[in-house]
Amino acid sequence: MLIFKKTQERFLPFLTSREVQLLPDKDKAVVILPVASIEQHGPHLPVFTDSIVVQEVLERALLKLPEGFPAWVLPLQSYGKSNEHTGFPGTFTLTSETFIQVLKEIGTNVARNGFKRFVFLNGHGGNTEIVDFVIRDIREQTNLKVFALHAFLRVAPPTAGLSELEGTYGIHAGDVETSILLKCCPEYVRREWAPNGLPSHLQEMKTPPFMGALNYAWLTRDIAPLGVLGDATTADPERGEQYLSDAAKEVAGLLIKIREFEFEKWQD
Ligand SMILES: [Zn+2]
Repeated sequence: MLIFKKTQERFLPFLTSREVQLLPDKDKAVVILPVASIEQHGPHLPVFTDSIVVQEVLERALLKLPEGFPAWVLPLQSYGKSNEHTGFPGTFTLTSETFIQVLKEIGTNVARNGFKRFVFLNGHGGNTEIVDFVIRDIREQTNLKVFALHAFLRVAPPTAGLSELEGTYGIHAGDVETSILLKCCPEYVRREWAPNGLPSHLQEMKTPPFMGALNYAWLTRDIAPLGVLGDATTADPERGEQYLSDAAKEVAGLLIKIREFEFEKWQD
């Protein structure tokens, strides 16, 4: 597996029970749960795309932390809320109710283990709303300091080298994700099947359907029959590298802020 080759010493489940018990700095330690999805990413990218990307960002971010920084990583929660992609082969989704419960119960266990700071590093747009409200529930129920980082959605959203159209509509399996996968695991990209998946009716809209004043529920099959929103044909691994390194830098900086976070002292 390409995951956490270089940062295994931060993978919490490799510790023994006694080591977890004796960990120093539990008040400042940051426990990180990567969350993502297993869902269709067009004909050309693996269904594990979001899971690969979020772990790649996290590993790069961990490598940027100062030595001895107390960051502990939990196993990826790869199953997320992906019901927008049902009907496309390769999608495995939890229901909202199950996903919420899983995230809350992991939070409960973080608190039981004596930690005080817990962050979700989310790599899938469809998880965003749930992660955002679950962190408050966990805070209320456990008193943990809880955080949400949404990679590429709010943390380091990619813009460099994208057309206006792609920057607006390229939200799924388009240029950005294909560029990143071409960089970090090209062996899983079926480039010959990469489509330009921007339906023409979307290109004529001034405001994307998911950003307007009138929000409406959409499924991928309603708006993108290929399962792709964006142009995967223009992907470029060099830009993928840029996106990954920008995100890793930003995530590392935010993890350092989380270690120091106190409500009364918080400054943006
Ligand atoms: Zn994705």
